[in-house]
Amino acid sequence: MTTDRDITATIDALPGLDSSAPPLEVKDLQVEFRTRNGIAHAVNGVSFSLQPGETLAILGESGCGKSVTAQAIMGIIDSPPGYVTGGEIRYRGVDLLKLPESQRRKIRANRIAMIFQDALSALNPVFTVGFQLSELFRKHRGMSRADSKARAVELLDLVKIPAARQRVNDFPHQFSGGMRQRVMIAMALALDPEVLIADEPTTALDVTVQAQVMSLLAELQRERNMGLVLITHDMGVVADVADRISVMYAGRVVEEAPVRDIYASPAHPYTKALLESIPRIDLKGQQLNVIKGLPPALTNIPPGCSFNPRCRYAQDICRADPPPPRFPVAPTRTSACHFWKEVKGDE
Ligand code: SF4
Repeated sequence: MTTDRDITATIDALPGLDSSAPPLEVKDLQVEFRTRNGIAHAVNGVSFSLQPGETLAILGESGCGKSVTAQAIMGIIDSPPGYVTGGEIRYRGVDLLKLPESQRRKIRANRIAMIFQDALSALNPVFTVGFQLSELFRKHRGMSRADSKARAVELLDLVKIPAARQRVNDFPHQFSGGMRQRVMIAMALALDPEVLIADEPTTALDVTVQAQVMSLLAELQRERNMGLVLITHDMGVVADVADRISVMYAGRVVEEAPVRDIYASPAHPYTKALLESIPRIDLKGQQLNVIKGLPPALTNIPPGCSFNPRCRYAQDICRADPPPPRFPVAPTRTSACHFWKEVKGDE
């Protein structure tokens, strides 16, 4: 049987591992898809870091590169057509992109886990949830059939699935959407990861169940002091749980800041437009602000600032020169905008 201590010893022996370094650090990540219509630049220099116990929300419209960033971290981009063409993905200082696949798989299985948007397609329909959970312990910890099943029941209990001892024998289709997402959380937490990436974990659920699943995630994260990367397009979800927000547009981070700062005074026109497009009860009867136009095709990103065709602050310089990425606008926040002061209301 492989114990947690054995796994820790194997991972600690990785050259360059520094236990004081962040459990996840992404630097200047570049991902492209080589398609028949040209090269789609899905991720163009994304950087962020995540501390233990911290929640970083990655926010943006569909197609902005947030899920591709997560897939690159997990090493699950279909290649071809997708390729990580540059940058670093560091776990405790070790660049995963430079590790042999076998070592990378160890970190992926034991230290960085992911919850997918659609639990029904992420779970195998022909096996019981108990089998799928216990397989993790048999495969990665060498546990016996009986012990691994007992751990599966404990995990279902942990994610508050009623009558876990009976439900462990059910198939995924016998669970409701919310309960299936809890099973996904149980699978992700099974090997006690330090980092959890949750890709739109509540999108397919109704609002009440969304709130329950998010509060369960937050509770488990607190208990385990786990870093959480929450990928979402929903600013309502972010406000309640995130510590920091990275806003992505056309494959880039355009603003990063503590959650309160973003809501109090966005420093990028795209963030500001996203906030203005949230329905507000005090503005009942008024027309909702929408962001005009569509995000650019990633095979044809406009020159200059990629947001310029939709930006109400755009000037000539925006069409000619891309703004510096991650320009520091305060000690703890960055914005990629030539006119961040005007947007923020500082000038
Ligand atoms: Fe808008 Fe220009 Fe700022 Fe881009 S750089 S977001 S176009 S003001």
